[in-house]
Amino acid sequence: MSRTIKNYIDGDWVESGASTLMPVHDPASCEHLADCPDSTAADVDLAVGAAKAAFDEWRGTPVLVRAQYMHHFKVMVEDNFEEVSRIVVKEHGKTMDEARGEVRRGIESIDFAMSVPVLMRSDGLEDISSGIDETTVRQPAGVFAAITPFNFPLMVPLWFLPTAITCGNTFILKPSPQTPLSTEFLFEMLDELDFPEGVVNLVNGAVPSATALMEHPDVTGVSFVGSSAVAKIIYETCTRNGKRVQAQGGAKNYIAVMPDADIEASVKNILGAAYGCAGQRCLAAAVAVGVGDAYDALKDELAKQVANLKVGYGLDETTQMGTVISDSAKERIESMIAQSATEGADVVVDGRDFNVAGYEKGSWVGPTLIADVQPDTTMANEEVFGPVLALMKADSFDDAVDIINQSRYGNAASIFTSNGKNAREFKYNVNAGNIGVNIGVAAPSASFPFGGQKDSFFGDLHGQGMDSIEFYTERKIVIERWV
Ligand code: NAD
Repeated sequence: MSRTIKNYIDGDWVESGASTLMPVHDPASCEHLADCPDSTAADVDLAVGAAKAAFDEWRGTPVLVRAQYMHHFKVMVEDNFEEVSRIVVKEHGKTMDEARGEVRRGIESIDFAMSVPVLMRSDGLEDISSGIDETTVRQPAGVFAAITPFNFPLMVPLWFLPTAITCGNTFILKPSPQTPLSTEFLFEMLDELDFPEGVVNLVNGAVPSATALMEHPDVTGVSFVGSSAVAKIIYETCTRNGKRVQAQGGAKNYIAVMPDADIEASVKNILGAAYGCAGQRCLAAAVAVGVGDAYDALKDELAKQVANLKVGYGLDETTQMGTVISDSAKERIESMIAQSATEGADVVVDGRDFNVAGYEKGSWVGPTLIADVQPDTTMANEEVFGPVLALMKADSFDDAVDIINQSRYGNAASIFTSNGKNAREFKYNVNAGNIGVNIGVAAPSASFPFGGQKDSFFGDLHGQGMDSIEFYTERKIVIERWV
């Protein structure tokens, strides 16, 4: 019999008052794993009330003690590393290696939070006037919430929760209803760490709970990661309600390959960047732009290798690529491939109607390679979020930069080259928040901000790094005279 996931509020697992349940499936085996409640505004109100009530005691807990919680949290995630990785695979469909990579990245964010006692320190100046001293102090700012996507169900919540609470705030997470099981396990671990009640809270659901968080008067700020269309809604709703907000959106990431690049090494990197997590990464390589002679070399080599990727069930350690998240994602991706063919592109490797023996009902899309994609087509401009790599041709370096900069997205862009001048001009001129040079997935480590631009980000302070310390704290200036 199916079980319904509970919310975690005020130190207890509690049933949601939801009247709607959303099934959670293993997208490869189609096993019905659980039901996720579509929590209501009343559920959110309970969580915010608990987080607000916990704030004063938690902010008064010494910062070194708060950081120690992170030490214990890290040890617990390490101890459960394989189990949590398996949960990520089951609910998401990625491979076991990809899930392990995700959990490792999540742990890096817990490591970063352990530095909060250093990073929250501020500055001061004596004698700004005779006998008067001025200092800055950073204080926690209140109750924060995060609304997170399906594609990194464990890692993305960890971009926010550890730093927010170690800064002294209290926290509510609303994960994706498509992948709520990794965060359920995360909160089972947090529960064992005996945080004061109300410091960490979990509300499962979709739009109603997200909206209630954004509109609740006692929520100070919201961190969001998801598609650009929703990021824009989040940004507008939060700002209208007077909240601070950081909303990381979708992407269409370009990789330029110069004729002077090492084609073999470039192809190896591009394969990982395009088909890793079945293309469901905001840093996935979506378009490879071959400059001059690099185009044909790239197309030939990719065509050989793409078709050989081993697609299968993520828990099989030999699998190189898993499923996409759902049947509706499969339909969307397949229709975008069809549209690209209609728009005149050449579908060199076609992943439509793909299947894996033993898992015939799974949401499979095979790795797809589409050549001769033109700049003004859907495939060049819209996010596919699936295992589809488009190939475009550019006559020159400048032409490639123009193609990349016409995109409405600006999450990441990479160049493969052996020429330092090209690399330097690429870094200088390309409008994207994360730039890779001979790197396929330009993923910032936890101590750097994740810096999308244009429609890939709405807000001022990005997630992670020093930006997250700014986002999760309030600065106060103290001016003192003692006579
Ligand atoms: P999504 O935008 O559909 O959902 C993200 C979250 O928003 C979920 O928790 C969902 O329940 C909630 N939500 C959906 N509609 C809402 C609404 N109208 N109001 C309030 N909340 C709403 O995204 P997804 O499909 O879960 O994730 C994939 C997307 O996330 C892709 O576009 C990908 O590029 C993006 N992404 C971006 C980053 C980044 O750092 N920029 C990282 C990972 C994923």
